[in-house]
Amino acid sequence: MTTTTVLPDIVQHLGAKICRFCGSILRRTFVDLGMSPLCETYPSAADLNRGEVYYPLHVYVCERCFLVQLEEYESAETIFSDYAYFSSYSDSWLKHCENYCDQMQSRFGLNGQSFVVEVASNDGYLLQYFVRRNVRVLGVEPAANVARVANEKGVPTVVRFFGAQLAKELAADGRSADLVIGNNVLAQVPDLNDFVEGLKILLKARGILTLEFPHLLRLIEHNEFDTIYHEHFSYFSLLTALRILVAHGLKVFDVEELLTHGGSLRVYASRVEDLTHPVQPSVARLIAEEEMAGLAAPEGYEGFASQVKLTKLALVEFLLTAARQGRSVVGYGAPGKSATLLHYCGIGRDLIEYTVDRSPFKQGRFLPGTHIPIFHPDRILDTKPDYVVILPWNLKDEIMQQLQFIREWGGKFVVPIPKVTVY
Ligand SMILES: [Zn+2]
Repeated sequence: MTTTTVLPDIVQHLGAKICRFCGSILRRTFVDLGMSPLCETYPSAADLNRGEVYYPLHVYVCERCFLVQLEEYESAETIFSDYAYFSSYSDSWLKHCENYCDQMQSRFGLNGQSFVVEVASNDGYLLQYFVRRNVRVLGVEPAANVARVANEKGVPTVVRFFGAQLAKELAADGRSADLVIGNNVLAQVPDLNDFVEGLKILLKARGILTLEFPHLLRLIEHNEFDTIYHEHFSYFSLLTALRILVAHGLKVFDVEELLTHGGSLRVYASRVEDLTHPVQPSVARLIAEEEMAGLAAPEGYEGFASQVKLTKLALVEFLLTAARQGRSVVGYGAPGKSATLLHYCGIGRDLIEYTVDRSPFKQGRFLPGTHIPIFHPDRILDTKPDYVVILPWNLKDEIMQQLQFIREWGGKFVVPIPKVTVY
């Protein structure tokens, strides 16, 4: 299936915004978060005197297919070719990955004859567990610096953007897959139809596809507006994901809800002609829940914007009060989502002195736009701040555990989302 018909091209030429999946004109705003720089670009000290490009974070919802989406302001090539996000720096995330491998192996009987391909395989954080279980793997990763790390640890990885073309080449080369994995990549795909078509092409006749992506229903419910940033072009309900997969000849036969990234879905699909896997009740159950929440009608998407604004007011109020009382406030973590939160709320170094991150790649650098400096986590021990704002709030339990020592000087944790909470 292709949506690149003549009509959308003309409409787009005239300045209208077009749905990435179905080609309809986008008229309805989901939320407008103002302007923000690219969130995974961490300037070094030498970069601080240069200008930075800001892009709008104006999110639309398509009134026909309900795909919530941002325009691709900067090309995926620019964003992802030298990407700073190394997946392997969170313990709980790695545990999640290892569990996934075990589940796939037992449920679908993967063995030494099986072949697993992961699209956007990052530094091999996931495929390494299949390698340890003697399953043959291939990673596809567009960021050369990240792919190099994967290759070094024994996860064969090609440096390419994934799409129908690469899938055809792999299939022609006899490398169709028993399992195709796309974890947290669907949101980052500019040409959604070409990408999903590629996933299908890569599947063997009885191959399984699993996709994990943040669940739009939870994003709305839990007010996770900071997970909206330029690197994420699309935000999916199951309703919309299903519609897209079906359009490309895929059948969703199961879905699981995960706690990762503030609430994600893992969708299982096969070729539509493969009758091996009966559709589980989980699919209809979740679709019904989304319909109840209003996600099958345009009106269901109203109200999010005002909820987001209230969060801003509460967070800024907290930080202003702390500043007036002379309390020291620092951050923990430098995740992509911190750029959206800080820019939308207008928070800079005057309210959050510095942040820390475990990734050596980010230490010594600065958060984009706000130029809040990023240090090694030991800095917190040295400066003994009154408040530590946990920016990757999805990992708050793990982080509070690691940073228990701030209690010794009466330090407290601040979690900004879904609403400002002090622990
Ligand atoms: Zn659409």
